[in-house]
Amino acid sequence: MEQASPGPYPAQPAAGDDIGRDIYALAEKIFPISRSITGDGVRKTLDILAEHIELERHEVPSGAQVFDWTVPREWNIRAASIRDMQGRTIVDFADSNLHVLNYSVPFKGVLPLSELRKHIHTLPEQPQAIPYRTSYYAEDWGFCMAHERLEEMPDAEYSVEIDSELKQGSLTYGECLLPGETDREVLLSAHICHPSMANDNCSGLAMLAFLAAGLKKRPRRYSYRFLFAPGTIGALAWLARNEQRLGQIDHGLALSCVGDGGGPTYKRSRRGDAFIDRAMALVVGRRGDGAKLLDFSPYGYDERQFCSPGFNLPVGLFQRSAFATFPEYHSSADDLSFIRPEHLAASYRMIMEAIEIIEGDWTPINLCPKGEPQLGRRGLYSARGGNRSTASSTMAMLWVLNLADGDHSLLAMAERSGLPFGELAGAAALLREHGLLADAPARRP
Ligand code: ZN
Repeated sequence: MEQASPGPYPAQPAAGDDIGRDIYALAEKIFPISRSITGDGVRKTLDILAEHIELERHEVPSGAQVFDWTVPREWNIRAASIRDMQGRTIVDFADSNLHVLNYSVPFKGVLPLSELRKHIHTLPEQPQAIPYRTSYYAEDWGFCMAHERLEEMPDAEYSVEIDSELKQGSLTYGECLLPGETDREVLLSAHICHPSMANDNCSGLAMLAFLAAGLKKRPRRYSYRFLFAPGTIGALAWLARNEQRLGQIDHGLALSCVGDGGGPTYKRSRRGDAFIDRAMALVVGRRGDGAKLLDFSPYGYDERQFCSPGFNLPVGLFQRSAFATFPEYHSSADDLSFIRPEHLAASYRMIMEAIEIIEGDWTPINLCPKGEPQLGRRGLYSARGGNRSTASSTMAMLWVLNLADGDHSLLAMAERSGLPFGELAGAAALLREHGLLADAPARRP
């Protein structure tokens, strides 16, 4: 395995509050687009993301076999509505793309309410919200609407039309690679298949684009791969096309629901003790009461595919509120008022913090291990006590010196000392400058 030397720490200044506004503005721009696992909505979204980053676009033809799955026909939709026999509109796709069961086959007809009801999905417990429902792999048509609107519909006949199309086309995904000093990779992914929902996952898509834009400007020890793929089938298509390269992935994160004020939540990779699991535990675990660290489970987003036993990649899931735990989830209530620039900015910083750990980790060895080296003589120890920041930087130096036995990387030191990784990395850099630390010799595997 190619060994990369750690970069300077910190490699970039902390992002200001503008980053939250920028991410929000991009999420807002892609929000209205009608997306699905295939079709022009994904392409339009990638076009907008490509205004911020260099995106390579891939098309996988309908019918292509990806492991146990087949890429379905391409779905596009122009219009859909339910009207009463007087021509008054009850439901119109033009008002909300959630109104149509995603992947509905085309349909046109006149039905009594009793028949139509079998094709209508509502949320009785949230009577004002439109649910988000899909039927990708079973041919069906349907509408989604506010339960209270359904309750108002008189028992009569209705004229129904879904002007959609399923054709031999392709599935689209986008990819951006930022090469680093080594070809060891960090994989960051977000699903691009949901229609107008802000947190799940316009927030994740916009976040991913700004992470790529931010990382492009800095020196990188690792190469970074950003994947914008439709959920499940898109991730599988990418895995199938990149199987030979998967061994290069050292760390990964799936991102979704990163714009609300909950959590933060980190779900560990299937490995449970991967470097990313430990780094995210540091970042998330010290974020107070709302913070949640969850063990891997085979349900959620595309970490399910990345962590399937045939791949078992070190990929975890980062979210603010965990999916399916907030009432807005998978409904029209997950709108642009549900996400906030300040939450997006906080999520951005947390992910960047994990990246700083990935980039900045190294294993030092103490060159003066018998007793404490005399720091004062080297100007590293403040003789006058009482200055808090001096005290904490001294503590960081003492921890680094003590744990620099070749068995502890900086991440392990942060775990054991409870000190922020950044402080320990800064202390280690200073001690190395003063000749007290060196790179530990590489261990034999
Ligand atoms: Zn979802």
